[in-house]
Formats: sequence, C-alpha cells, structure tokens
Amino acid sequence: MASQKKQKKQIKNQLSRKKSIRTNIRKTKSDQLVQYVKKFQNQFKLNQLDQDNKEIIPSYQSIPTSYQLKGKKKFQKKEAVKGLVGLKNLGNKCYMNASIQLLSNLQPLSDYFIEDFQLTEINRKNPISTQGLATVAFANLIKSIWQMDIQKLTVKGTPIIIPEEFNKIIGYCNKSFSDNSQQDAQEFLMYLLDMIHEDLNRVTFPIKSVQLREYLGDCNQRELERQAAETWGDYLQRSKSIIVDLMQGQFKNSLKCLSCDKYTYKFEPLMYLSVPIPEQEECQLIECIKEYVKEEQLTNGNQWFCENCNKLVDAIKKIDLWKLPTILIIHLKRFKFVENGIKKIEQAINFPLESLNLSQCLPKLQKEKPIYELLGVVCHTGTSDRGHYYTYARSKENFNWYLFNDRQVKQINVTEIPQEDAYLLMYGKSTIPLIKRQTISFPENWPHVIK
Ligand SMILES: [Zn+2]
Repeated sequence: MASQKKQKKQIKNQLSRKKSIRTNIRKTKSDQLVQYVKKFQNQFKLNQLDQDNKEIIPSYQSIPTSYQLKGKKKFQKKEAVKGLVGLKNLGNKCYMNASIQLLSNLQPLSDYFIEDFQLTEINRKNPISTQGLATVAFANLIKSIWQMDIQKLTVKGTPIIIPEEFNKIIGYCNKSFSDNSQQDAQEFLMYLLDMIHEDLNRVTFPIKSVQLREYLGDCNQRELERQAAETWGDYLQRSKSIIVDLMQGQFKNSLKCLSCDKYTYKFEPLMYLSVPIPEQEECQLIECIKEYVKEEQLTNGNQWFCENCNKLVDAIKKIDLWKLPTILIIHLKRFKFVENGIKKIEQAINFPLESLNLSQCLPKLQKEKPIYELLGVVCHTGTSDRGHYYTYARSKENFNWYLFNDRQVKQINVTEIPQEDAYLLMYGKSTIPLIKRQTISFPENWPHVIK
C-alpha cells in the first residue's frame, strides 16, 4: 500500500515538474483565490456549535429514504424533472463533475443539503476540517442543481451550471484539485466525503483520543457483536456526522500468529469497499468482494510482529465485513501499478441492478437484511493517463436512469451501463425506511443487534 502511494506520488511529481514554468502566473492567481475565499467565508454565519461547542438542537433525528415512493410517482413524458442539470467542465474536471453528479443523486444526502441541515452542524473548531468551506461550497452547488427554476428545465436542451465557486474553494482546500491535471474520481470522491464529514463532525473539540480496542482469542457471535458495538460507541466519541449515518459501517480485522497461535482482532470503521478484480473470463461483483475478504498470508518481507513471541512471525490476516452501511460505495480497483506506470484492467464486472444480497458476506446477526439496489455508477473510459469520467444515476424524482456527462444529461436504459467501464458503484440498502442519526446515547439507533 505504502509503496504504491510512493510510486503514484513519483508519477505525479514528474507531471507537475513540467508545469513549473507556469508557477509565476499561478502565484498571482493564488492571491486572488485567497481574497475570493475570504469573501466566501464571510458569507456564511456562525452557528450554535461554534458559540458554545455543544449540540443543542439536533437538525434531524432521521432522514427518510425515498424507496417507499418507488413506483408511486407518476410522471408525464414532457414534464420537467428536477436535478437533470449538466455541469460545465472547467478544464479536465470530469472526475469532479462525475463525483458531484453521483452525490447529487444520492437522495438522503442531497435532501440533507436542500433542507439546510448543515447550517446548524458546521463545526469550525475541528482542526482537520476545512472549517466549513468545502461543505458550504458543495451545499450551494447541490442546492443550485435542485432548486433551479422548473421553467428553465423545460426549455429546449439541458440546463447547465458552471461549478466555478465549488471548483475554486476545493482547489483552495486541496492543491491536488486546483490545477487542470487529471485526477482519480475515487480519490476525489473520498476526499470530498471526508471533508464533509469533518466539517459536519458533531463531536465537540478538543476531543481526547480514543484508542481502537484490541480483542484477544475466540468467542461466540453474540459476544463479538457486543464488542463491535462497544467499539462503535468509542468511534462515535470522535466521529459523528451525516456521512457516518449514511455511509459508514464496520469491518473486523484479525491477525493470527502462526508461531504461538495468538489471535487478535479489532473492529474498524468502513467507509467504502475497494475491491480487487480477479482476472478471469466472467466476473460477478460478489466474487470481487469475496476476493477482498480472502485470507492473506503475511510471510517473507511482509511478516507481522507478534508481541507474544516478541519477534517477526508468519501470520494470517483476515478482513471480515461486520456492518455494511445504508449507502455502500464499491470501488473496483481498475488501476494497477506496473513497472512503467499504471495499467487499467478493462474486464467487465457483472453487477446486479437490484437485489444485491450480501448476506453471505456478513455474520448472521444483522438488524436489516443486507439487500441493496444500484443508485449510481461512475464510469471511466480510456487509458489511465488519457481517460474520461462520467456518471449514470437513478433520479430520486422519477426513478429513471440518466447519463450525466459534463454538460450532457440524457435518459438511458439501465442495461446500457458498460460493465467494462464501471469504476465506482453506489448501492443503497433497500430494506431501510429511515436513516438514523448515530449518537452515543441512543444505541438502539446503531446498526448492532444488542439487548
Ligand atoms: Zn506469536
């Protein structure tokens, strides 16, 4: 993992060196940017969390999912549908536009911003956040997409939004996204979700650090579930946000020493699944997930330090999915590091549109059946250095599927999604009517089965 990152960084550095001539121009631009950001910052008001560092009135207890509405809404063919808005590409920003459109069509999240729930939840005291910058810019963009005058939506052609404010603010928050270089949509999406999480983190600061509990030895399922819940409670002491409510689950990470048989494990937060692609003729999504949770032998240069044996030993590492979130993002690892750069795996992955049942990948104790339906797909076409991102998503308004390709928005048949280009899959658990706010004081809202 670390060496892959290093290699990636080297490639990035090579690319950025070519651009060094333009540094002077950029400096003037960055002064302007600072002014722009200051002006932007002055526009949004302080909130209760800033004033007394305490959560007084929760902005929501739960957010209803739209699954119950499916099939009940009837639309005329020519009727304007909200949310079908294209985005202008501001220079190699397809990775950004594709990610925005994926999240824009994520109903509970866009509803959260349309309802302005973020206003009372922005936490400017969090030192690892953007102090609300990224979140306010994102919320403004989502609102401009969904609140666009319905009359404009009926005129000929697709209405377009120029995401300039969002683009500038994100570029200010993270330099990697400031210029016109190609970026990875998965990295951008995770960065954005992480910043939204930290900006909206409901914990009070400063917080004391909570160490991840480590458990020892075998025990039964009930006890494991209790331990997982205990760790979730610890986690909520430092991380609580709409992103945790929607998109976080838990996996069990265990290690077994092959010298003394010592067996230890931890329950770690899960934000998305980054699954490998087995190289074979036909590949089902479930096979990628099974590959991800396969036992891993830690031997040779990859040994593990066992405290019991007090030396480096051969060990077995195993990841088990424990709780899967309401919204599950699956990253298909299409980009592989090879000697002279990055190679793209163009294998088709067969992913179900409905009834993705992940019961066989989870322990039996689950509050809801882990059955998912597809909500959106970010595709990548082309090679690793010359490619293009675009998105397919199901409208939260009429449940039809659309292609969102920068400026272009077009209704499609869901079977048209190219299986060899699918890169990020977004699934929603169809067995959940409400997305519940995660708080320490309400364990009944946690995903765990505890008595
Ligand atoms: Zn040992």
